[in-house]
Amino acid sequence: MKLTLKGHDYRYAAEQMMLTLFPGERPGAGENALTLSLFRGESWLTARAELIWEGVSFSAVRRARVGELTGGLTDDRVCQRILKLAFYDAGTRALGKEPPWGALTGVRPVKIPAKAMEQGLSPLRAERLLRDIYRVSPIRRRLAMDCAGESVAARRSLRGDEVSLYVGIPFCPSRCVYCSFISAAVERCLPLVEPFVTALEREIEATGALLRETGRTVRTLYVGGGTPTTLSAPQLERVLSALERCLPMEGCSEFTVEAGRPDTITPEKLAVLSKHRVDRVSVNPQSMEDGVLERMGRPHTGADIRRAYGEVRRAGAFAVNMDLIAGLPGDTPEGFARSLSEVLSMGPENVTVHTLALKKGSRLTEEGSSLPSAEQVEQMLDRAWDVLREAGYAPYYLYRQKYMSGSFENVGWAKSGCASLYNIAMMEELHTILALGGGGVTKLVWPESGKIKRVANPKYPQEYLRDVEKICREKGALAPFLRETKGVQ
Ligand code: SF4
Repeated sequence: MKLTLKGHDYRYAAEQMMLTLFPGERPGAGENALTLSLFRGESWLTARAELIWEGVSFSAVRRARVGELTGGLTDDRVCQRILKLAFYDAGTRALGKEPPWGALTGVRPVKIPAKAMEQGLSPLRAERLLRDIYRVSPIRRRLAMDCAGESVAARRSLRGDEVSLYVGIPFCPSRCVYCSFISAAVERCLPLVEPFVTALEREIEATGALLRETGRTVRTLYVGGGTPTTLSAPQLERVLSALERCLPMEGCSEFTVEAGRPDTITPEKLAVLSKHRVDRVSVNPQSMEDGVLERMGRPHTGADIRRAYGEVRRAGAFAVNMDLIAGLPGDTPEGFARSLSEVLSMGPENVTVHTLALKKGSRLTEEGSSLPSAEQVEQMLDRAWDVLREAGYAPYYLYRQKYMSGSFENVGWAKSGCASLYNIAMMEELHTILALGGGGVTKLVWPESGKIKRVANPKYPQEYLRDVEKICREKGALAPFLRETKGVQ
């Protein structure tokens, strides 16, 4: 789609809306065209969208009062809002339908109602923002409002001296077709695993010293990847011992380890998790359908998931999360419903329902494959929401990703009292999260202003090994930030 901007330079906002409405379009390419203009008069700021879609013209106008402009940063938001909404109006007229999240283009739909409620708006009025300004569908409004309630409660429960930690283990036994993660198939990287564990111990020590020196404590800890249980039991023992020995964990209320792949779960490794106070484990089938698992490139069956789940339950008092993905190659609404019903029959405390996202670098994107249609994915999700609610689960966090099938969402569901605080804090950016290991991203959060700075750790094990001393020095340099923001919440 050719994009012409007049009177402004909000190209990113226009491209975001284009991706939401017309996911098949790419900026600058093809016959379709959009002219998006902004004009400031004495009383009104006016945005006009003129869209040519498949040879037919559609136009729309949105306005804001000039009095809304304050000369500050929020002016940008007002301008972008009316530009996006004008494009949205013209685009939905052209399409004859509205996307599930209406005109919301960001990845965090919960922030809008959560912030509104924290500023004193009632839940009803916060929901109306989603309905009237962003035209979010009723089913998605309900999801967002449930998660906003959890977000507000989570923020209240966090103390100003607390941070969370993410530890990335970038290895997996083999690579799934939809994966764009850095994780390296372990058979090709076996010689790197031991040095990686040694380097990680070094970074854990440096981070522990930093936290103690600045008077910070760990509230939640999440070991992800990759698949952390790709490590052997002795290697896991070394990592978890280092965490326990070096970090101020006295106030830690949640310690998760992802054991995503059943082909990596053994009683010995689970015993190590149990010994080191891990209280939440993620076992991720993605699908319980053997044909779908095979097309995903997963060398295991649904029966293997059941076995692994049983081992996790026998090994310790873990809360268990299980992930499913809607929209996988070869899956159908019926197959997805069977997978969900199988997962629920096992009784995990958390179920996370993802929507397939076509990510750059994944085999699925590069090689192509026939996928369920957006309508089928919508059926899978909408049915799943009903089934989960009936089974006693409630949504507690959600987020969207670019290139997500049908522009839907990922939603975490929890039995009462079992929501993962780490997931809420990370997704809603409620406090600082320090990332260690491969592929993690540290998020520094300034609580008063809401400003966020991201610092990425290297993606590949080789880079991590090469740079670990530099990474430790950079961690140490966070001390002034941690002191300055301590106690503010
Ligand atoms: S288990 Fe997860 S991280 Fe590992 S290859 Fe599959 S999708 Fe990627």
